[in-house]
Amino acid sequence: MSAYAEVILPLPLYSTFTYAIPQEMAEDTRVGSRVLVQFGRRKFYTGIVAAIHADAPEGYEVKPLTALLDPTPIVRYPQLKLWQWMADYYLCSPGDVYKAAVPAGLKPESETYLSLNPDYDLDELFSGLNEREAEIIRIMTSEKKITLQEIEKRSGIKNAPAILRPLMEGNVVEVSETVVERYRPKIERMVRLTVPRDDQDALHALFDLVSRSRRQEQALVAYLDLSKWLNPMAKLQEVRRQALLDKAGITPGILKAMQDKGIFEVYKKSINRFQDMPESTRPPMELSEIQREALAGIRRSFRDNPICLLHGVTGSGKTEIYTHLIREVLDAGRQVLYLVPEISLTTQLTDRLRRVFSDRLLVYHSKFSDNERTDVWKRLLHGNEPMIVLGARSAVFLPFAQLGLVIVDEEHESSYKQYDPAPRYNARDTALMLASMHGANTLLGSATPAIETYYKATTGKYGLVTLDRRHNDALLPDIEIIDMKDQRKRKENTGIFSSPLRLATEEALASGRQALMFQNRRGFAPFVICRNCGWTPRCANCDVSLVYHKHSDMLRCHYCGYAVMLPPVCPACGENSIDIQGYGTERIAEEVHERFPQYRVGRMDLDTTRNKDAYQEIIEDFSSHNMDILVGTQMVTKGLDFEKVTVVGVLNADSLLNFPDFRSDERAFNMLSQVAGRAGRHADKGRVFIQTNDPASKVLDFVRRHDYPGFYADEIESRRQLQYPPFTRIINIFIKNKESHACDEAALLLATHLRSTFGERVLGPQKPLVSRVNTYYLQCIMLKVEATASMIKVKRILRTIYESLARDQRIKSSTIYYDVDPV
Ligand code: ADP
Ligand code: ZN
Ligand code: ZN
Repeated sequence: MSAYAEVILPLPLYSTFTYAIPQEMAEDTRVGSRVLVQFGRRKFYTGIVAAIHADAPEGYEVKPLTALLDPTPIVRYPQLKLWQWMADYYLCSPGDVYKAAVPAGLKPESETYLSLNPDYDLDELFSGLNEREAEIIRIMTSEKKITLQEIEKRSGIKNAPAILRPLMEGNVVEVSETVVERYRPKIERMVRLTVPRDDQDALHALFDLVSRSRRQEQALVAYLDLSKWLNPMAKLQEVRRQALLDKAGITPGILKAMQDKGIFEVYKKSINRFQDMPESTRPPMELSEIQREALAGIRRSFRDNPICLLHGVTGSGKTEIYTHLIREVLDAGRQVLYLVPEISLTTQLTDRLRRVFSDRLLVYHSKFSDNERTDVWKRLLHGNEPMIVLGARSAVFLPFAQLGLVIVDEEHESSYKQYDPAPRYNARDTALMLASMHGANTLLGSATPAIETYYKATTGKYGLVTLDRRHNDALLPDIEIIDMKDQRKRKENTGIFSSPLRLATEEALASGRQALMFQNRRGFAPFVICRNCGWTPRCANCDVSLVYHKHSDMLRCHYCGYAVMLPPVCPACGENSIDIQGYGTERIAEEVHERFPQYRVGRMDLDTTRNKDAYQEIIEDFSSHNMDILVGTQMVTKGLDFEKVTVVGVLNADSLLNFPDFRSDERAFNMLSQVAGRAGRHADKGRVFIQTNDPASKVLDFVRRHDYPGFYADEIESRRQLQYPPFTRIINIFIKNKESHACDEAALLLATHLRSTFGERVLGPQKPLVSRVNTYYLQCIMLKVEATASMIKVKRILRTIYESLARDQRIKSSTIYYDVDPV
């Protein structure tokens, strides 16, 4: 009986692909196995086996799997179930999910390299090959590694994979070479003495050997020190070669000389990439009475309901409560996933959690290199021991076993949602599904829960535990709303600062405290305009104006990265009359620096955190008070804990307040409450200044009074009236085309078809706020269905409509994609 594999390929196609499993691979090919397959005539992909069956497909000839890439599966069965759920729920292909889920190191594609196994003796090998095999091997001997495509090109052989397959099976040809190359555990060179530690005489002999060279003697002493050789109470420490060079202040030449004399020997050690572990761990901090009650409340809640919302004001000690829960779950032998919305948060939390959990803690997010991510993946795949994974949204894809608890911190954050590319998933909701597949509990934590979440928590769908006081009775900060129109009228403001904010900042800095300034725009100046003719620079690829970045003296598009030099004169009228207006973080930082020249100013935004370490450096600098004022975008609003911050300034709240979208009030309330929550978290009371031209705004009043319940009551009522989530569910359908006209036509046609089924539930098409991105025109159709409707049915209908239209010329040229539950 022959067997077939359904293989998920990294392609945006809505199905898996069937391949025959060759006899010799039958035993080891399993669900979750990684395989190399030929797709089309020329391409090769690494895919994942999603199912194995005996039904021969009809109507076409199935190709065999080309090779099995690992001895055992690399994806666990529950992961595949989650992928399938995501593809169904978010209306994308399993291949889209696969691409997002698996680190690149584990999925070489068409350009996959092949190489000959060096263990084979070539002469012997050739004697056993047929002509075409020999031809391929001959080509391969001339290259260290070569792609399949290249082999076909040079040999002129059309079906090289078929010929190569037995060679791969016999391990004559290796494909996993690429993987080994992309995924390579870090190797460190280490040094040790050649004599045993307990042999005093031998050590003296070594000192005799170096007695004529002061540097060699220094090296020896440095080694003894680093290794704790002479301390009988201490375990002998391994010493890195580089550490020895640094400590002794010697050149590699001197070390080499000592190796030649037989004093040192250098050896290689494969180390994992995880940070140095603390020598010992310590228990989590003792909880306060109120926190203990909250913890007990959560445990009670989990008895009846696997999902619980912890609604705790900023600084109430949610993180400490999580730590206690995590320890319980690890002690019970199960794993924990701890999700945070922003990579910058993992930095601060890593230290806090490492102290308690040591090497039980793994960290995972997209700023890690591919090697590091592959490391974490493999650790979880090959071990079932209790681990806690701290990560940003992509951590939901890891191969967990025995997951017992999922924590989604700052669950309201919109950064849990991936906008582009597919899968356009919300990591919070995906984590809830992941937890339920594992029978694990989920704790959602927030000071400002998402409206949908709070609705579920107050209508009995989730458990709810509230913490309304800060730890140690630290007070919530005083929030002042500053009327900037009034400030200008009275000429009180200086540049970006209202006088109250300026005075409070001066005072705080003078008394050794720190200040945080929040501006929700990066770059130097968001508006560039010609005073003479009104020209403004626009992106060549997108329907947005360009933002001026002073450091690089460039105009940049924040959507596609397009950049041009700032022209010296207006390109439209030729006058020297270009003005830059408005404030981004870069310019704010500059002004803050001018205003407070004796203090150190730092900046945290997308531009200053391009690499992983930058986050850590900025946060550490600010935490350790190497910096007095930090200017930042929303990156600084989320959950960071700085001890000495007593003043927070929101330089301009207006752009937050005036966003044309049903979530804008929620977003503004959350962001402002969160940024305010960074102030006065410890002993000193904090002060927050929100500068605005609209001081009467209702949202600002709720923020000022720290009134989440009031805000919620108001907001849920308006959602009910306007029939927005949680009372409905939204699916946005996007149509994308390089031709404006074709885009509009396809959108209209699609909307008409949708209306014939969904009627009034279809809104649009409408151009989105930014109607052209990266050379594509966009149209959006909103589908708003009752919360009680069957989403499975809705999605099935959507697919049917799409498939019935897919061949229509007017639709075919456009790309259509879905954004389910947009935030
Ligand atoms: P949240 O996550 O709710 O914003 P955190 O857990 O960050 O609050 O706590 C705020 C601050 O108070 C932190 O610096 C934390 O270390 C401290 N803290 C909270 N609970 C305790 C406790 N039980 N013992 C000592 N310090 C605590
Ligand atoms: Zn001009
Ligand atoms: Zn652009």
